[in-house]
Amino acid sequence: PEQILRKPDWIRIKLPSGDQVNRIKQSLREHRLHTVCEEAACPNLSECFSHGTATFMIMGDLCTRRCPFCDVAHGKPQPLDAEEPANLAETIAAMALKYVVITSVNRDDLRDGGASHFAACIAAVRSQSPNTTIEVLVPDFRGRMDTALDILQQQPCDVFNHNLETVPRLYLQARPGADYQVSLSLLQQHGQRLPDVPTKSGLMLGIGETEAEVIDVMKDLLAHGVSMLTLGQYLQPSKDHLAVQEYIHPDQFQRYAEIARELGFKQVASAPLVRSSYHADLQAAGVGK
Ligand code: SF4
Ligand code: SF4
Repeated sequence: PEQILRKPDWIRIKLPSGDQVNRIKQSLREHRLHTVCEEAACPNLSECFSHGTATFMIMGDLCTRRCPFCDVAHGKPQPLDAEEPANLAETIAAMALKYVVITSVNRDDLRDGGASHFAACIAAVRSQSPNTTIEVLVPDFRGRMDTALDILQQQPCDVFNHNLETVPRLYLQARPGADYQVSLSLLQQHGQRLPDVPTKSGLMLGIGETEAEVIDVMKDLLAHGVSMLTLGQYLQPSKDHLAVQEYIHPDQFQRYAEIARELGFKQVASAPLVRSSYHADLQAAGVGK
């Protein structure tokens, strides 16, 4: 039944506002940079920006895939902007960000999936902001994983994040271009190559998964060396996107957090408005980064 569920009280969107946030937005426009915070109209924007955290989307805003939960536009991607690493580094330094997340659309059109562009961005940010923690939230590099890992290994980030997004049973429906095992293997292999860099993953809940399935995913992640976990409520970007099946109660998020910690995750963020980068600075503080 395609019935639209009413949003419960605990899904409250805090409207972005404030001078600091506006200054940041202006600086982003000047440097032709995109943030997920703005594009996804993230409910946490003012909080994150004022805490010195932001999530940048590199390699353009057109994706070669089309996941039904995602609001990013689909299409033939633009050529890479060779100035992007320098622009990104300058902006991050000017914004005095303490913790940045660098993410991208999927670039199935590039031979290395965009790994060398990621590496160039990490290098540029490091050189201008040596004290800024850099988390990368990468696509699955499906079909080019070894190439991508070889490149990323040369330029280590501080936290390596790749989201599983949902339980394997719902992949065909929610992540049609992806493969559960490929994603797990990416996380595992990065962790094996760079054991000092914690690996992180996350799920969006409320699209029809059961508690038992979520717990199985937790166990799979731990078995693949992942130590940080984020769980948040899926929100439908528009009525043309995958429907929300359920608004998971905050108590259930709490319960998942307890289970995850018991099972062995070092860091867990689990609440309705948690996004994979939400309070990323605080999340990482817990694993010694
Ligand atoms: Fe940006 Fe992530 Fe914070 Fe949302 S949670 S505002 S996407 S850094
Ligand atoms: Fe969105 Fe990522 Fe899917 Fe592209 S691959 S549609 S950016 S979730």
